[in-house]
Amino acid sequence: MKSRQYSRKFELSIPRKELWNFLIETDKINRFFGFPPMTSTPSPQKNLVIGSWRILGFTMSWEEPPFEWLEPIYLFVQRNPLNNFFLKKTSLIFSLEESKEEQTTLEIALSLETASFLPNFVIEKILDFLVFKRYAHLLRFCEENYKTRKKSFTLPSPRPRLQEQILKNGLNQLKQKPVSQKLIPYLEQHIRTAPDKDCINMRPFVLADAWQEDRLEVLRLFLYATTCGLLEMKWEILCPNCRIFKGSVASLSQLKQKAHCETCQIEFNINFDQYVELCFSIHPAIRKISGEVFCLGNPANTPHVVMQLRIPPKAEKTAKIFLPEGSFQLWNRRDSKKIPILVQTKNLQRHVSIIFGEKPKIEVREIKEKESFFYFKNNTENEILVLLEKTAWDERQVTAAFVTSLQEFGDLFPSQVFGSRRGT
Ligand SMILES: [Zn+2]
Repeated sequence: MKSRQYSRKFELSIPRKELWNFLIETDKINRFFGFPPMTSTPSPQKNLVIGSWRILGFTMSWEEPPFEWLEPIYLFVQRNPLNNFFLKKTSLIFSLEESKEEQTTLEIALSLETASFLPNFVIEKILDFLVFKRYAHLLRFCEENYKTRKKSFTLPSPRPRLQEQILKNGLNQLKQKPVSQKLIPYLEQHIRTAPDKDCINMRPFVLADAWQEDRLEVLRLFLYATTCGLLEMKWEILCPNCRIFKGSVASLSQLKQKAHCETCQIEFNINFDQYVELCFSIHPAIRKISGEVFCLGNPANTPHVVMQLRIPPKAEKTAKIFLPEGSFQLWNRRDSKKIPILVQTKNLQRHVSIIFGEKPKIEVREIKEKESFFYFKNNTENEILVLLEKTAWDERQVTAAFVTSLQEFGDLFPSQVFGSRRGT
């Protein structure tokens, strides 16, 4: 096997944070590139998943450790093919640097371990076709979208099959309801064109922000659209530790007292205020949504995590990250105890050293610098996954506690409120 490196630089007229938000949608990007859906089996002891694709009747499998990132400057993705004669390791690094105002330099670096007999120009041709040209096309699309500031910023996907008559009936009914009429075309466009992934858990406040419209009005639109048979509502249960959706129920009366998170290996009490979120999906009579997964590590699934790093056994790692003012917490996947990190004023930043071992040693020192520096040492025999996350929960959540307090919700869905834990 031979180790090889390839890279390309792109100068883009788009601010770094906007570009970052686009690049972390790795599931949508893989789908846009035309890669097949993947299946996965977790391997928690090894802190990774075994992923596989089926291409032309063949199954290709790989080991995939968690992605690493420092928002909004660095993203590292690794896939190590299994039983592959030509390819052993692949990794992809995205580095984002602010060049001018509203300008970003993006470097995409690929590192491969391939069979040594393969000539370099053959690999370059394949990578050009499979990776770099596709990214060049994607980034042009991203830049164009940013320039024209389209309200709904999403990647084109294959045209879904729709039951036109049911959709039209539903929309006509919705036009008779006391909702903001200018919002109806946005919802119709979403139903007609949004990729499946954006239709499984439609979050009203998130879409309101994307459409640059009033959050509460969009929530009302969704509630009335549900009564017109356009949407279905569901209650997603979130793990308090990793804040990932852990299953859903159609009605609040079906909620149990406790739930389990496989990723964190914990059982938790369901807290109505924060751990139950109201989401919507398109009614299956109008459009069938596939739950296919195209990338499991997708950092866009955990937008509250600003840093995620793997610290190998008996190793150390440093990281430099710019943190805005606010409250953060740092934790390691194997031990859910969270360490608070407070960034208080504009120039006051922190230098944080953390040693994981038999006696974890934590040292936090305030320094006046533009960035925050982190130093990690892992004295244990196992790899550690370190996460730094915003302490506050996503303010774009429509919690069960909030929505059931709305009079209009109770009037529209009396069976949802009656018998819910809030009402008893
Ligand atoms: Zn969890």
